Amino acid sequence: MAKQQELFDSEPAPWELDEGDDRLVATIVLPEAPFGPFDYTVPESFRSTLAPGMRVRVPLGRGNRTVVGYCVRVDNRLAKDLGSHRLKDIQSLVDHAPLLSPSMLRLTEWMSEYYLCPWGQVLEAVVPAGVRHQAGTREVTYLSVPTSVAARLTQLKLPPKQAQALRMLAASTRPLTISDLSTAAKCTAAPIKELQRKGLVRAETCREFRVQNEKNSLDRDQQLKLNREQQTALDKTLDALNSQRAETILIFGVTGSGKTEVYMQAIQEVVSFGRQAIVLVPEISLTPQTVSRFRSRFDRVAVLHSHLTNVERNAQWREIASGRVQVVVGARSAIFAPTPHLGLIVIDEEHDSSFKQDSLPRYHARDVALQRAKMESVPVVLGSATPSLESWHRARQGEFHLVELENRILDRPLPHVGTIDLRTEYQSRTSRGAISRPLHQSMTAALKDKGQIILLLNRRGFSTSIQCPSCGEVVKCPDCDIALTHHREGEKAVCHYCDHQIAAPPICPNCQFEGIRYAGLGTQRLEAEVRARFGDARILRMDSDTMQKPGSHEQAFARFRAGEIDILVGTQMIAKGLDFPNVTLVGVINADTALHFPDFRAAERTFQLVTQVAGRTGRGERGGHVLVQTFSPEHPAIVAATRHDYRMFADQELPIREEYGYPPASSMMRGIIRGPSERTTESFAEHLCDEIQRGIDERCPDARLLGPSPAPISKLRGKFRFHFLLFGQDLDTLRSIVRETTANTKPPEDVQWVIDVDSIDML
Ligand code: ADP
Ligand code: ZN
Repeated sequence: MAKQQELFDSEPAPWELDEGDDRLVATIVLPEAPFGPFDYTVPESFRSTLAPGMRVRVPLGRGNRTVVGYCVRVDNRLAKDLGSHRLKDIQSLVDHAPLLSPSMLRLTEWMSEYYLCPWGQVLEAVVPAGVRHQAGTREVTYLSVPTSVAARLTQLKLPPKQAQALRMLAASTRPLTISDLSTAAKCTAAPIKELQRKGLVRAETCREFRVQNEKNSLDRDQQLKLNREQQTALDKTLDALNSQRAETILIFGVTGSGKTEVYMQAIQEVVSFGRQAIVLVPEISLTPQTVSRFRSRFDRVAVLHSHLTNVERNAQWREIASGRVQVVVGARSAIFAPTPHLGLIVIDEEHDSSFKQDSLPRYHARDVALQRAKMESVPVVLGSATPSLESWHRARQGEFHLVELENRILDRPLPHVGTIDLRTEYQSRTSRGAISRPLHQSMTAALKDKGQIILLLNRRGFSTSIQCPSCGEVVKCPDCDIALTHHREGEKAVCHYCDHQIAAPPICPNCQFEGIRYAGLGTQRLEAEVRARFGDARILRMDSDTMQKPGSHEQAFARFRAGEIDILVGTQMIAKGLDFPNVTLVGVINADTALHFPDFRAAERTFQLVTQVAGRTGRGERGGHVLVQTFSPEHPAIVAATRHDYRMFADQELPIREEYGYPPASSMMRGIIRGPSERTTESFAEHLCDEIQRGIDERCPDARLLGPSPAPISKLRGKFRFHFLLFGQDLDTLRSIVRETTANTKPPEDVQWVIDVDSIDML
């Protein structure tokens, strides 16, 4: 507790120490450095009002600068246990009521440990800004007459104005403010203030909302009669609910198999007991479509999406905390919804990478959900057509209950998925663009039949793996099984895991073809090509460049749904969770861009992407099919995706993860170091890795440290980026090694570094 020292006042005089006296001590954490925790005494005046979860103002440091911190604990301590130093007093309270319940405090404490992030910083991230600033509320002071005063009202001798005001107030059936009362009593504020001063009128301040929540006026939808598979999934969930166990049920069900209906019926049960449910969906599928399905089934649904204003968010938060909301539907951060009696957590599309936050505290909503469920003894339902291998692995080990929905509702067939071998296309040179001849022909046919088309180009920033367009060979790192990245400067090929480097090969090492360095293309170029080929069609491009305005997704999808668009061209943002019955053709322009990404999850991502985008077609009565263009049609991830065969994919991918010691066969952390000078940044990265390696050698010999190496995005906003990866079985030990290293190594000025636990993003 060295940090505590600077907080102390000068030594107390001996007569100030009273051995037997006990003190109320509050533990405070700060949202900024020095984060604490620090202890303060609670002055007499706050003894009955201060509670953990409230913010307070405290003096900090020698200068006693006033800072705002979160009170995380209040306990009685004997003065003698506090030692000979005197703690400072809390100055004042910021909140009238706790912002966080005791269980949310415990959850954030866990996050702080798990994600190696100071507790105060976690709290600041978890409590929305709108709530912290009490957006949309105003302070109102209401007057009342204490009962003891009311009882002797007639005996009081008062000047006429005061007597009149007091009588009016005592007779009022609703609370009055000073201005209400002065209007009613036809007096100025002065006599009322005088009454207050005499203690004859009590004033109480509270916060009120200026806006009212919108009411839900839709007609209710009936529950559907579940099919046998759905019923089994529901029964499993109800079992866990009824026994109040924190069990996790993984519903592995193809797209359109009726998972959402199962969630809704489970939630019905939860709601009937007066409890609340939280439903997490990827931000991108938080569409009016999804929301209206829940709204049409439940009376009081709160929707938390990223476009809420501070005022709206605060209103939602208060409404949820009051227990009036039955179902909270939202993206990642909805896992922190302050439901007072949580009954169930549902995570739809649990494999989706948007559940991981890419800024501090870098939490994964699924893992936070599992922890929250454990603390509150409620079940979690995870649903996906392509479960993350992490969840699949845990299901196989018996940690999660696996329930499978094998069939689509009404036995609609899954679409046929065909591949187009770009190698033969390339060699025959019949087409030099992005769209092969067979894809062009299918598009023409689909348009003729008045079907709609989705074209997916997975761009993810840039494509710099080295793949031979003639034979499909990919240049990989011999140690990491990761595609090497081509760097034009110096013509190198680099492994972004272990920094293995070779000269970029001038010819294909496999077939000796000379045009091995094949550059990818972007959505913009693809759109131009589509326009050139299909001049009459109505075309819309959706990617992060064209979809920047809030609401532009919804608008674009609405137009597509209404049939105003024939061909939708876009990045992975068009692949998820949408239901368009008229889509009869899906084309994947190049499945390999995701496949040869410098990421051990590249195959998994590709499998997910192709499977998900394939799920966008064949939803209506017209059926549909999918064409996947690839240089690697025999790659197991692509083969499995064309067969809609998740098990096949998992069975061949998991052994590879085992072999190279990648998750889920291990736990991992990623360190990212960035700074304006390449040399300083790299040398600090090396120093860090040396320190961590020393810890590993001493305490955790089976752990593996890869790097430092340049991050795949090696320069961002003028900063050079390096990273390292840490793999091992014992995450706790790895974490404590990192924690100690952090405490003992200070980066040079301008260099920053962060650690990402269970990282998903490898760029
Ligand atoms: P998923 O969430 O697995 O993609 P959904 O729950 O969206 O599947 O179901 C797909 C479609 O089937 C929806 O239109 C839904 O209303 C319908 N559906 C779901 N369950 C049933 C059922 N038991 N009987 C009839 N239709 C159903
Ligand atoms: Zn390597």
